[in-house]
Amino acid sequence: MLQKVLIIGAGPTGLLLAHSLLRRGKYRVELYELRSDPRLVDVSQDRTFPISLQERGRKAIRKVPGLEEAIISTSVFCNGSKVYRQRGKAREISRAIPILTIDRNRLVMILLQHLTKTYNSELLTVKFGCQCVGVDRRTKTVTLQPEQGEAFTLAYDRLVAADGARSPIRDYLVQEAGLQCEQNYVPDAYKSVFLRRLNPALGLELEPNKIHGWNRDNKTRMLMVPQPGDRLNGVIIFDAQQNPLSSLTTKEEVLTFFQENFPLIGQLMSPEEAEAFWHRPVGRVLTVRCDRFHEGDSILLIGDAAHAVSPAIGQGCNASLEDVLIFERLLEQYEDDWALVLPTFSEQRIPDAHALRELSDYSFPRTKRLVVEYFLRLTVSRFLRRWFPQWTKPFVFDLVLDHDLPYSQVLRLSQGWINKVKRSLPQSS
Ligand SMILES: Cc1cc2nc3c(=O)[nH]c(=O)nc-3n(C[C@H](O)[C@H](O)[C@H](O)COP(=O)(O)OP(=O)(O)OC[C@H]3O[C@@H](n4cnc5c(N)ncnc54)[C@H](O)[C@@H]3O)c2cc1C
Repeated sequence: MLQKVLIIGAGPTGLLLAHSLLRRGKYRVELYELRSDPRLVDVSQDRTFPISLQERGRKAIRKVPGLEEAIISTSVFCNGSKVYRQRGKAREISRAIPILTIDRNRLVMILLQHLTKTYNSELLTVKFGCQCVGVDRRTKTVTLQPEQGEAFTLAYDRLVAADGARSPIRDYLVQEAGLQCEQNYVPDAYKSVFLRRLNPALGLELEPNKIHGWNRDNKTRMLMVPQPGDRLNGVIIFDAQQNPLSSLTTKEEVLTFFQENFPLIGQLMSPEEAEAFWHRPVGRVLTVRCDRFHEGDSILLIGDAAHAVSPAIGQGCNASLEDVLIFERLLEQYEDDWALVLPTFSEQRIPDAHALRELSDYSFPRTKRLVVEYFLRLTVSRFLRRWFPQWTKPFVFDLVLDHDLPYSQVLRLSQGWINKVKRSLPQSS
């Protein structure tokens, strides 16, 4: 008899977990997602941004035959970044191991297509435009509200909260089951930007295999990532309390803002994108720190629902996909006995999730002096490692991006730098 698993949230984590459970042949999976079906409506510019995936995320994806190849065929590999300065030449940071970059919604689409192609409706149900609005752990039921029609209630054997940083299931567990959870908004807000990488009329072309970054000051910056063809997708990031875009009222003002503050972007932005940019919503990032990732023997919190972090070092999705791999290993080890798997998952994953939060908040320096020191340390550590690999360790970003060490180990190796960045921030204690 198959166990019925309800997964709430068809983001990267929920979809990869569905793959993982169905491959075991012991489960029937039902996925419910608030957003519209990306196969039916154009979501290419809808609340999305480029995600960089490295070994931690990719080794989880690799477990599903053919999936990594499908993702690679629609991604771009970046072999470094280019940081443009107000004056002087752009700084180039190379990467020994290229980073796979893919738009979040495209990643979701590939995971979904692969899933529905592999499993039939006897094993898998996927419903979009359907919001989870209630949970009752005692009766093991959830209430779902479709876009149209009446709300309905479903029973589950196991329930998975893969419903992102603002998880309603997690809120329910905080209120009803004593889950301890700290939630904070990061000071930065962001808005997505979609451009062409080149402007033939001006003879302008940004390199196709570099992540491009601009720092206007230590509060406003841009990060743009090449996508297949000549697309360049990314975000402008700014202090949520001093939104420099809030006073812009026309597309002409949007264009002038970019021409004055990010001249290269200003040259690449079309009037249509300026108009669309103006209408696009501002995004805020909520970080989440829980004391456990499960309830009893039947509810699992996973991905951003369990441990959303600041995107500063691009690890939220990598960590979320890695959750799936670790969960799958535990199912294997404990022969699908969720009463053993769930607490062990919490025990194993919490130290890494908490370490990732520290790394995400404090790896990247915010003061000018530390930014200079950061580049110096990066260059010196790479130089020394070439000659004395046994006596030197990689600098924090190289440890995060080029290796798949557990985050708690990366934090231990980088604690000196993390403490220094923390001390440099006025609000840190
Ligand atoms: C600007 C930015 C850049 C980022 N860059 C990177 C990067 O480079 N590398 C990286 O590793 N990570 C990055 N991240 C983090 C990454 O996006 C997340 O960690 C990842 O998307 C988490 O996946 P998830 O499936 O757990 O959650 P989500 O992607 O948030 O998916 C959760 C899903 O649940 C659905 N949902 C929510 N509530 C309900 C409900 N009540 N009922 C039904 N469905 C619901 C949502 O609609 C959503 O589709 C970035 C994040 C941001 C904001």
